[in-house]
Amino acid sequence: MDVPAALFALQTCDLEIRRAAKLLDELPEKRAILETRHKADEVRQLKGKTEELVHRLERAITANTDEVATVDEKIVGVQKTLDSGQVTNPKEVHNLSREMDALKRREDKLDNDTITLMERLEKAREQVAKVEMALERLSARENQLITEYRAKGGEMQASLDSHKTQRAELAASLGDDLLARYETTAAAKGGIGAAKLLEVACSACRVELPAERLRELREGPDIGLCPNCRRLLVVRGADAVE
Ligand SMILES: [Zn+2]
Repeated sequence: MDVPAALFALQTCDLEIRRAAKLLDELPEKRAILETRHKADEVRQLKGKTEELVHRLERAITANTDEVATVDEKIVGVQKTLDSGQVTNPKEVHNLSREMDALKRREDKLDNDTITLMERLEKAREQVAKVEMALERLSARENQLITEYRAKGGEMQASLDSHKTQRAELAASLGDDLLARYETTAAAKGGIGAAKLLEVACSACRVELPAERLRELREGPDIGLCPNCRRLLVVRGADAVE
């Protein structure tokens, strides 16, 4: 490829590289993956709290059950004493009856509490199950997004790599001086260091050039300088094929 064509091709290639890199970075799947992970973290925290509640309720129910067993034993003991006929003193019998009543009330209360706790436990377990399902859905969504990101991103990366290879070849064909001028200009002018002359205007700044400047450019070398934007201006041969 001739130098003027290579310079203009290099410019096109650089814009393509920039565009591809930006697209890769801004893939919506990438953002969606991060959002899904964030959401899953929140749900996992909720799961932890709900599981803690389940354990607390289970412990409370166990404690109640243990206490009921103890109270039961006491009731049996008091009943035995009453049935044995050994206690005949009315005051003592009265006291034992009162103790029996107190034990039974305690047992009733514990039983009622246990029922309430079991209802709460059931709800908490349902909540854990719901949260686990939500986590599964989020995990499936994340996997799907990763697959999509890899598919799209893979194509983009391959395209980016091939443009970079092409760029290296074009850059090598320009020669160090022209390449350096191009790169300095591109860095200073928003990534566009080279333009071509379109009829009477520069393809980068689009300003129509005065007849005198056009004549000077046409009489000058293949690669000049735009009098308006000061970019390298390919006067002829920009679109020449190899
Ligand atoms: Zn210009």
